[in-house]
Parts: sequence; C-alpha cells; structure tokens
Amino acid sequence: MNTICIMCPMGCGLEIEKVGDEVRVSGNTCKRGEAYGKAEFIHPVRTVTTLVKLEDGSVASCKTDAPVPKERVSDVVAYIGALTLGKDVKIGDRFHAHLDGLDTDIIITGTPTSGC
Ligand code: SF4
Repeated sequence: MNTICIMCPMGCGLEIEKVGDEVRVSGNTCKRGEAYGKAEFIHPVRTVTTLVKLEDGSVASCKTDAPVPKERVSDVVAYIGALTLGKDVKIGDRFHAHLDGLDTDIIITGTPTSGC
C-alpha cells in the first residue's frame, strides 16, 4: 500500500507492506511517519471537521473530540448535517453524537460571531 504521511507538511511518500506478522513502513523521514503508516494500514482513523446548522440559519464549525474510524466518517458527517443547534452555541461547547456503535463528542470550534 502506498500513501502520503499527513503528520507534517513534508508529506513523505510511504510504502507500507505486511511481512509475516510485521507491518513495515518505508519512505518515512521520522518515527512519526512510521507510526502513521502502521496505523493507516491496520486501522485508519480521522478527526472529522465540518459545519453544523444553527437555528438562525447560520453555521458553526465543529470537530470530533477524537479521531473516528475512517469508515465511519460519512456517518458522522451525515449525523451532524441533520442537526440544528441553538444560535447561542459557544466555542468549546460539546454535544454527544449518538451513533450506532460509535461513542464520540462533537466540539464547537467556531461560531458566526467568532468569524467562522
Ligand atoms: S514521515 Fe515525518 S517528516 Fe515525513 S511527513 Fe511524516 S511526520 Fe513529516
């Protein structure tokens, strides 16, 4: 498997392969890239950042409080897309996402008044 390390702006190209029970990463310039490559191969995760509607028609930016399995990203985006929050949300407010088999909090990261 080939991918690009996204842990820093260098964007090293990684080659990841399984040899026996071991996952081997090459092309990385540092240990973070090796860890990223192994995680991408074994169980890729992503922090979801998106927008949530507010009751006054504006939007606030938000993100998951922790990375979620990559295959569940579209579920999280759809869940947030179906929500409408009060217009008084503040940066740092949290709400729990009730998704089948996934336990995550969503954090407000920007509001219309903060320049979101
Ligand atoms: S391997 Fe290291 S240097 Fe290369 S992109 Fe990843 S974090 Fe940056």
